[in-house]
This record gives sequence, C-alpha cells and structure tokens, in this order.
Amino acid sequence: MSEIAFHGITKTYPDGTEAVRALNLRIESGSFTVFVGPSGCGKTTSMRMINRMVNPTAGIITLDGRDISTVDPVRLRLGIGYVIQSGGLLPNRRVLDNVATVPMLLGRSRRAARAAALEVLDRVGLDRGLADRYPAQLSGGQQQRVGVARALAADPPVLLMDEPFSAVDPVVRAELQVEMQRLQAQLHKTIVFVTHDIDEAITLGDKIAVFGRGGMLQQFDAPERVLAQ
Ligand code: ADP
Ligand code: ADP
Repeated sequence: MSEIAFHGITKTYPDGTEAVRALNLRIESGSFTVFVGPSGCGKTTSMRMINRMVNPTAGIITLDGRDISTVDPVRLRLGIGYVIQSGGLLPNRRVLDNVATVPMLLGRSRRAARAAALEVLDRVGLDRGLADRYPAQLSGGQQQRVGVARALAADPPVLLMDEPFSAVDPVVRAELQVEMQRLQAQLHKTIVFVTHDIDEAITLGDKIAVFGRGGMLQQFDAPERVLAQ
C-alpha cells in the first residue's frame, strides 16, 4: 500500500515563479502514473515534492494518509526510489558499488550488499560482465539500467522517474520502456513517471495526469482517453 495524494498544493519558488497552483491529485497504490505535459508546467516540481526535495508553499501531501511533512526526509527517501535523466550515478564507483551502496546504507554487510546488487542488476537486464566497470564505460542505455537498479535496490514501494529515458536514442528507449513494463508487472510498485512525450505516456501509463500551463490538470484512468481529447 502506498497511495499518494496532493491536497491543494501550491509551490512558489523564492524568485516568485509559481510552478504549481492549488493542485489536487491522487496517485493510486500500485499504479503506473505518468505526469505528461509541456516543459515548464510543474511536473518535476510536483514529483520532487513527493520525496521532499522540494517543499510546498501551501497544501499537504499524504503517503498512505500520513502528512509527509511530518516524516524525516531521509527515512522518507528510503521508501522512495528516484531515477533521473542522467542516471545520477557516482562516477568514481564501479557499477556494482553504485548499487551496493544502497543496501549498505540499510545496514547490510558489504558482502550481502554486493550479492543483493547483482540480483537487482539482473532484474533490470544488465549484463553481469559490466558490474565491474565505471559508469563512464557504459552506454547511455546501460547507465539508465544501473540508475533504475540503484533506485530499486532498497526495494522501495514508490519509484519516481523523471524523464529517465529522454537522453537515449529511440531504439534503446523503446527497449527500456519494455523493460519497465516487465518490471512493473513483477514488482507492482507505485510508479510516478514524468515525460513530455505523449506517446511514451500512453505506452507506459495506466493512469495519466496531463499537466498544462497555468496549473491546469486533467486526469485519465485509461491511457486511450487522452487521445480522444
Ligand atoms: P516541468 O517539469 O513541467 O518542465 P518544472 O517543475 O521543472 O516543470 O518547472 C515549473 C516552473 O518552475 C518553470 O517555470 C521553471 O522554470 C520553474 N522552476 C523550476 N525549478 C525552479 C527553481 N529552483 N527556482 C525557480 N524556478 C524554478
Ligand atoms: P528538468 O526539466 O530536466 O528536470 P530543469 O532544467 O528544469 O531540468 O532543471 C534543472 C535544475 O534547475 C533543477 O534543479 C531545477 O530546480 C532548476 N531550475 C529550473 N528552472 C529554474 C529557474 N527558472 N530558476 C532557477 N532554477 C531553476
């Protein structure tokens, strides 16, 4: 169970930019929810409020009914994996150690953490032969697989993905999309996925929130309904 709800969320940045206005949104437990819309309409800001990287100016966000502003951010983030466009990998650590860092933070021994890291690398379809490389020695698509593995390593119930595949070429992106669908069918996490690509949104999402300029939001329970608009 991990339902997320936005109640009247507004975010105004210190420079006066109003990124999100009076947003009400429910993200169902176990859904693959996609935030889609043009650049600058508050998708990333909304996503980053879920793990408290950004704090709202007004309103409340709940996770399973609990106001997240009362939860310690470090603890909160152990339950919320986060994947970004650039992979977010530590450049000076080998692939295996990038992933193993997470179970070690959770108190596993180095040996157990490495075993867990290998398992999760298998899960995302990364060849084990690449585990000893440094991130710069991998292709963009392989780095993104490692980024997903790292986010999954603590087995968090919630996974946030911010345009994770937008920097890779279209063929690899399609592969990664298929991989995500396969993973979600196995893992049943609550996934929030940001993209500006409507085709990607419809391919991946079972729930779609269409963000528009000026704080407009439309929610769709079935992806094909977006096309009917
Ligand atoms: P999207 O993800 O839909 O592209 P963002 O949430 O990144 O939208 O940005 C929404 C608006 O907030 C934009 O106008 C952007 O320039 C602005 N914004 C984002 N981050 C900051 C920040 N740290 N400081 C000031 N304005 C910001
Ligand atoms: P993306 O859209 O890929 O998430 P952005 O270019 O919107 O990346 O944002 C990159 C970084 O710059 C983020 O940390 C964001 O908060 C910040 N940022 C975005 N827009 C602004 C802005 N108008 N003023 C200050 N910081 C911003």
